[in-house]
Amino acid sequence: FVNTTEEFFTFCEEHDVGFVDFRFTDIKGTWHHVSYRMSAVTTEQLEEGLPFDGSSIEAWQPINKSDMLLRPDVKTAFLDPFTADPTIIVFCDVYDIYKNQAYERCPRSIAKAALEHTESLGIADTAYFGPENEFFMFDNITFVDNINEAGYKIDTEEGDWNANNPYTDMYNTGHRPGTKGGYFPVAPSDSAVDIRAEMMQVLEQVGLEVVLGHHEVAQGQHEIGIVFSDIITAADNVQKYKYVIKMVAHLNGKTATFMPKPMFGDNGNGMHVHQSLWKDGKNLFYKKGNYANVSEIGIHYVGGIFKHARSVAAFTNPTTNSYKRLLPGFEAPNILAYSSQNRSASCRIPYGAGEKATRVEMRFPDSSACPYLAFAVMLMAGLDGIKNKDIPTGPMDENLYELSLDEIREKGIPQLPHTLRGSLEALFRDFDYLKPVFTDEFLESYRHYRFERDVWPDEGRPTAYEFKTTYQ
Ligand code: GLU
Ligand code: MG
Ligand code: MG
Repeated sequence: FVNTTEEFFTFCEEHDVGFVDFRFTDIKGTWHHVSYRMSAVTTEQLEEGLPFDGSSIEAWQPINKSDMLLRPDVKTAFLDPFTADPTIIVFCDVYDIYKNQAYERCPRSIAKAALEHTESLGIADTAYFGPENEFFMFDNITFVDNINEAGYKIDTEEGDWNANNPYTDMYNTGHRPGTKGGYFPVAPSDSAVDIRAEMMQVLEQVGLEVVLGHHEVAQGQHEIGIVFSDIITAADNVQKYKYVIKMVAHLNGKTATFMPKPMFGDNGNGMHVHQSLWKDGKNLFYKKGNYANVSEIGIHYVGGIFKHARSVAAFTNPTTNSYKRLLPGFEAPNILAYSSQNRSASCRIPYGAGEKATRVEMRFPDSSACPYLAFAVMLMAGLDGIKNKDIPTGPMDENLYELSLDEIREKGIPQLPHTLRGSLEALFRDFDYLKPVFTDEFLESYRHYRFERDVWPDEGRPTAYEFKTTYQ
């Protein structure tokens, strides 16, 4: 792996690289790319940037100000394990040539700014993030069952059903889950052992440190555990992880999805995020003898995330589907309390971890989030909590799913929003904590984008289930 432009070219020569694939992330977390022929890549481009059309990316530039630059981060270069010809992938930041600064809608640049802000406050010099991205793997099928879940007949004539059926955009037509085998049983119940092994090997090839892989609770659901990293590398790793998981599934004739709640009545896909702040090589979240060995700073960090959680969720749970996962009973949280063992709490602080491993695990985020934005927003909220010495609700070690709504109210336990609209509306009121890093212009365009792309189209659509409940 390389550090300088010179080393980059040497590496490419040694590996017969024919293509350089420049990649960047948009505000919804999608990874985009443009491939250059190796012979056309110059030192100047690597150092100054490569032009691209910023108006063709959702929620970015207007057409009359479309020229943007991709600024490659050569230290991130790695060989693409999937291309027929040797291809090297490089993460890029987006640069605004009109304002002569990092683009204010570039998530990777925002995450960098959040880290710089942390350093400038003198609180910490390192923010470690350890995301856990769960996913489903579905079989690819050409024909769909002719009865969908809500009981509506679908015309399965090839090529025909799409045009004739008004519900098809709510029905998972291309993919179907396997049979439920449960959590952890060995093969043949777990039929994905070899595919997961392949995923784990390829993840290592692209530079991720893999610990374990296992079947998850829902049918066809899996998780592969990766070692935590600094905030930027951790977010880069999420992009690599999703790419590898989807590609290996695809090459095995399957489809992997990170959608938060693909299946009614079973667990959804979380992106739990383990977090800790460090200074001068010391874990600021560790204090031996405290509850779960977590320091006051660690508790205030959780307090800040909880205080702002309703607006944080606009980034960590940014799709309408996100909120279907956050219903009680599926190991995903809704109540804003912390606990050392309870998986129904929004924050779990693993019990009795040592100095190196003490951390807080936020359990509400999901993988429909853009990792750079989600991590940056949690970091900003946590820092605000440290500044204001916020105290979160907890520790609560009872099963929070069993509390009735009245009990939740009586105990005054705050909850996450139940809809994306709720989170976005919170973001109208509560955004001061983001201001050192997020511009008003960005926040405004982000809210607008989410309403237009996610909330309104969803709210305006009758669902198949509504035909069942409102048939007159
Ligand atoms: N799948 C669960 C979720 O939606 C989490 C299961 C676990 O604890 O790993 O967050
Ligand atoms: Mg899990
Ligand atoms: Mg977890």
